[in-house]
Amino acid sequence: MKKISLLGATGSVGIQTLKVIREHPDQFSVAALAFGENIQVALPIINEFKPQLVSVKNKQVADRIRIQLDDQTRLVYGIEGMIEVSAFPESDMLVNAVLGSVGLEPTLAAIEAGKTIGLANKETLVTAGHIVMKRAADCGVRVLPIDSEHSAIFQSMQGQDRCAISRLIITASGGSFRDKNREELIGVTIKDTLNHPNWSMGAKITVDSATMMNKGLEVIEAHWLFDMPYEKIDTVIHRESIVHSLVEYADHSVIAQLGLPSMLAPIQYALTYPSRMELKQTKSLNLWEIGSLHFQKVDTRRFPSVSLAYQAGKAGGSMPTVLNAANETAVQAFLSEKITFLDIERYVETALNRHHVIQMPDLETIEAVDKETRAFVKNQIN
Ligand code: NDP
Ligand code: MG
Repeated sequence: MKKISLLGATGSVGIQTLKVIREHPDQFSVAALAFGENIQVALPIINEFKPQLVSVKNKQVADRIRIQLDDQTRLVYGIEGMIEVSAFPESDMLVNAVLGSVGLEPTLAAIEAGKTIGLANKETLVTAGHIVMKRAADCGVRVLPIDSEHSAIFQSMQGQDRCAISRLIITASGGSFRDKNREELIGVTIKDTLNHPNWSMGAKITVDSATMMNKGLEVIEAHWLFDMPYEKIDTVIHRESIVHSLVEYADHSVIAQLGLPSMLAPIQYALTYPSRMELKQTKSLNLWEIGSLHFQKVDTRRFPSVSLAYQAGKAGGSMPTVLNAANETAVQAFLSEKITFLDIERYVETALNRHHVIQMPDLETIEAVDKETRAFVKNQIN
C-alpha cells in the first residue's frame, strides 16, 4: 500500500489523482491532503478518503471547515500546513498538483523528508528548477513527471541510452485560439479562452495553453527534469493531442508515447513507476478511428510566449522566476477581467526586459524576485 500526500486535491489534476486512487483501493491511500478554499468539493473527498491530516489555504477557511471534520482529522493551514502535508511522516509519496509557485517550499520539504515526488506543479520547476533538482539528487529522491508531455518523454526514455538522446520534441495542441491570427485575438473573452479543444483543465493552465505560455513553461520544465540544454528541446503543434511527446536519439530513431488525451494515464504512471497497472477508466487508442495526425511548426511571431520562455530559460538564473511570476500575475488579472488576453504577454515581456538576471540565485533570492515581480506587474496593471 502506497500512502500519498496530495496537494491541490480539489483541482483538476487533484480530482483525477483521486480517480486513479479510487480505482486501486488496495494499492493506494490518501494519508494527507491540501486544498485552497473549495470546501464544498473538499468535504466529500475528506469523508471518502479519510486523510489523517488536512491543510487549507488560510485560517478563515480552517475556521469554516473545522466543525465539519471529525476528531480523527488534524487540520492545519497556510504554507506551513502544506509543508506539513508534504512531509507527513506516514506518507510515501507527494503528488504535487497545487497551482503556482506556492508549490515550491512544500516540494522542497517533501524532498528533504525523502518522499518520492509526482510533479504536476510545473511552476515550481520553472521558478527554481536548479534548487529542486539539486536537492532531489542530493537526497536521492525521484521527481516523477505528471505533466503529460513530460510523462511521455520519461516513458520514451525507459530502457534507452540517455547519453544518446539528441532531442526532446514536445507536442502542443495550440490551445483555444490555434486557428485565429493575431488580429482575431483582440477582444477575445474569458469564456472563449477557457474553451479548450482537447483538454479539460483548470482555468490558469487553459489560459496558458491559449497563449502557449504553457508550452514555454514546459520547455523549461523539461530542461530541469531531463537535464537537457534548450538547444535540444523542440516544440511542435499537434492538433489531435494523441502523440504526447517524442524523444529523438543519435541514430535519428524517434520514440514517442501515444494515447487518447487523458491525464489519468500520466498520473497513474507516476504512482506505479516503474510498474504499470490496468486503468479501466481510459480507452484503447484505435488509430483507424483517428484517421490522421497533423504536425505543424510553431510560429513564434504568432505565439511570442514560446520565444519569451526560451529567452528566459537560456538567460537562466532568476529570469525564469520572473517569467513565471509575471505570467501568474497577468493570467490572474485576465481572469479577473482587469486586462485583455493580448496584455498577458505584454506584461510578461515588460517584466523580463527590466530584470537584471541574478545567476545561481538561492531560495531567498528566488522568493524575493518572485514577490517583487508580482508587485511590479500588479502595479503596472493598476
Ligand atoms: P486547478 O486550478 O484546477 O486546481 C488548483 C488546486 O490548487 C486546487 O485544489 C486549489 O484549491 C489549490 N490551491 C490553489 N492555491 C492554493 C493555496 N494557496 N493553498 C492551497 N491550495 C491551493 O489547477 P490544475 O489542476 O489545472 O493544475 C494544477 C497544476 O498542475 C498546475 O501547476 C498546472 O500547470 C499543472 N498541470 C495541470 C494539468 C491539467 O490537466 N489540469 C495538466 C498538466 C499540468 P481550491 O480550488 O480549493 O481553492
Ligand atoms: Mg502539459
